[in-house]
Amino acid sequence: MAQQITLMPNPIVIARQCINIDGRVGTRHYYWCPGCDTLHGIAIRPHTADNGAGWEFSGTLECPTYAPSQLTTWPWWPKGHDHPSETFVCHTFIRGGMIEYLVDCMHDLKGQTVPLPPLPDWVLREEGESDGQ
Ligand SMILES: [Zn+2]
Repeated sequence: MAQQITLMPNPIVIARQCINIDGRVGTRHYYWCPGCDTLHGIAIRPHTADNGAGWEFSGTLECPTYAPSQLTTWPWWPKGHDHPSETFVCHTFIRGGMIEYLVDCMHDLKGQTVPLPPLPDWVLREEGESDGQ
């Protein structure tokens, strides 16, 4: 059987069904953040995350726009600390397929606007597994 060669780059956003702690089912969109070098996921309205956050989605998965801005924070262990002493901040607008990093970001891309990059292969493989394929 011939191998299929895929010339298209990976998608920049994937939509996945998610289930909240309280059993509500909704949609999350995931994109790769080159500032944090990790995946960020946001609940798409009318769905909301467990903390009540939800975003309006317009455009397409190939050229998405979300509103309002996305603020991602997590406990941060600066070098030499054995417990989290700071909060790491990533704050973005995604408009027209571009990530606009606001100046309160704590990574190197703060203040810059960059295209959403293609998702890594491992993210897409997980997608296939979650579909039971
Ligand atoms: Zn980020």
